[in-house]
Amino acid sequence: MLPVAAVIPAAGVGLRLGGVGGTSVPKALRLLGGRSLLVHSVAALSPFVDEIVVAAPAEHVGLVGDQVASCAVPVEVVAGGATRQDSVLRALEVVGSSVEFVLVHDAARPLSPAEVTERVVGALHSGAPAVVPALPVADSLRQVDAGGHSKHVDRSTLRAVQTPQGFRKDILVEAHRRAADSDATDDATLVERTGVPVTLVVGDHLAFKITNPVDLLLAEILLSGRVDPQR
Ligand code: C5P
Repeated sequence: MLPVAAVIPAAGVGLRLGGVGGTSVPKALRLLGGRSLLVHSVAALSPFVDEIVVAAPAEHVGLVGDQVASCAVPVEVVAGGATRQDSVLRALEVVGSSVEFVLVHDAARPLSPAEVTERVVGALHSGAPAVVPALPVADSLRQVDAGGHSKHVDRSTLRAVQTPQGFRKDILVEAHRRAADSDATDDATLVERTGVPVTLVVGDHLAFKITNPVDLLLAEILLSGRVDPQR
């Protein structure tokens, strides 16, 4: 099998998540079932990869290194940057030279199921250069302009994008090198701008991103097994 690495951006502050008692704990280090979001995400990806690079908040590189020390595959921890894109690039720079494919996975998606990663890796091995898990959008949507006016958007043509996203390493590295200071919120956007087609595979509702306090609450309930998310 061709070597695969995972890059996990985990250096975000998590302003929208707020904090219990005004905590300054970065989002990826918030606890879920006694383990940090980051440790859950590392555990979710480790069965599928040969190495992992985590981009952590600069002041927590040592702590994160301790948290992932017992992982089944080698994990390197680097200091992240000011933006997600920066953090991914810094991690990419230390991925092993023999690696063929890179999975980029938000630390903030701790419950992403194995089936999603399997679909992404499967599509890469079938020859797709860039693979993204995605789901149809459930809510009705409106586009808002600068003046606050809004208009209907046809949701049937739209998909919500998740991670892990998978790429041929050379393509992802080139996309990041060309895209200094872009406003892209994911890696597929950067790759697409270089003219490479993006293949969609089916995502999963459990791969939701922890963004707001209610997301963390939902993840706690799901993890405790108090409800079966398939029912
Ligand atoms: O802010 P958002 O939820 O979109 O962040 C997605 C992922 O990118 C999170 O796992 C976060 O920790 C990471 N990130 C990062 N470096 C930043 C900002 C976000 O690694 N400067």
